[in-house]
Amino acid sequence: MPNPDLLKHSKQFEKKIIQLSDGIWSAVGFAASNVHMIEGVDSLTIIDTSESTKAAENILTEFRKISQKPIGRIIYTHSHRDHISGASVFAEKPKIPIIASEAFKSDLIDLDTSAVSPNKSLERRTLAQFGIGLESSDRVSLGCGPADRPMEGLGAGYVKPNKRIISNSEIDLDGITAKLILAPGETDDHLVVWLPNTQILFSGDNWYHAFPNLYAIRGTPYRDFQTWADSLTTLANLKPNILAPGHTMPVFGQEKIHDVLKSTREAILYVIKYTSEGMNHGKSIDDICASINLPKNLKTKPWLGEYYGKLTWAARAFASGTLGWYDGNPTHLGNLSSAKRAKYIAQLAGGVDSLFEQARKSTDLQWCLELCDHLIALNYPAQDLKASVMRKLAEDEINATARNTYLWEAKNIQNNRNPL
Ligand SMILES: [Zn+2]
Repeated sequence: MPNPDLLKHSKQFEKKIIQLSDGIWSAVGFAASNVHMIEGVDSLTIIDTSESTKAAENILTEFRKISQKPIGRIIYTHSHRDHISGASVFAEKPKIPIIASEAFKSDLIDLDTSAVSPNKSLERRTLAQFGIGLESSDRVSLGCGPADRPMEGLGAGYVKPNKRIISNSEIDLDGITAKLILAPGETDDHLVVWLPNTQILFSGDNWYHAFPNLYAIRGTPYRDFQTWADSLTTLANLKPNILAPGHTMPVFGQEKIHDVLKSTREAILYVIKYTSEGMNHGKSIDDICASINLPKNLKTKPWLGEYYGKLTWAARAFASGTLGWYDGNPTHLGNLSSAKRAKYIAQLAGGVDSLFEQARKSTDLQWCLELCDHLIALNYPAQDLKASVMRKLAEDEINATARNTYLWEAKNIQNNRNPL
């Protein structure tokens, strides 16, 4: 049975077209990310475009029940694939403005296929993080979107931006004044859309109903913590009445929105402080992660649940993002290979069979996984044991991306299609 809190969080992805205000709608739950529509005098503006052409088609069908006006422009809040891959469906007319920040593409190594990069690793980890290929009974959510959504045309409809925003600017969305604000956060290329007259903020992924994904386990460049926190202050200072995020349900009410933005900022600052102090006291990152916990005033905020981002991963990302991989312990200036370490551990345990028995009997699931890795490094068949432990961990896990990864890797290791 999946973690009940994670199950409950899926309510954030109920498929709905939500009216935010006169002429302004959000499509939630049709895809991994939300798509928004603003109706101008003679044309429509689309903010973000979802992850697939099929999801985009489904959303456009719903939007067309509301307005038949032509789509006049598209705005990308940032370059993540789940926001840019349905654009060809919305760009019905050729050469409409497709607007993005000057820094667009900051966070995606796979947009540049000519570069030598760890693309294959990124791809595998992305499949795992989002549980792509898992049985539907195993999938709860993506943490940021629904598990069940169309996959046809995944990543297929990206259209390059043709208008870049280099500084905060005002733009006319066919009769509706909007401010485009550069607000680096989850990515460096974030652009948020502010409608001053209706006080609606389209925050992109700088806020959603989950602990912020300060590190994505699919693999990401460092997301600057302080910069993200500062952008949340910028957003809070706008005093929005309606917050329409890139994922999860919109939030209504000035006071509530102030609380969600400010507390999310505080949570990021808390990770900076706790991790920095630990590092300054010479603590290892494993020990920092073993003790980090949000203070009570933040822990009780429902939108800071670790459904998508995770506190310990954030601490690790902050440590490596600020000072790099070296943790100050000279033992780690050199490292044993996995096989050599496994050989020594097996010797300590009294041989591989005894090591396997200890792994099998351990009640500490994390320790069991670590012993399994040593065994697998010695070509000892511990794959089934490792898979069963990953499945157990998945069931308790509140974080959707961790749950998906455990289940995906468990399936993978047993099918032996791509043994670790
Ligand atoms: Zn997103």
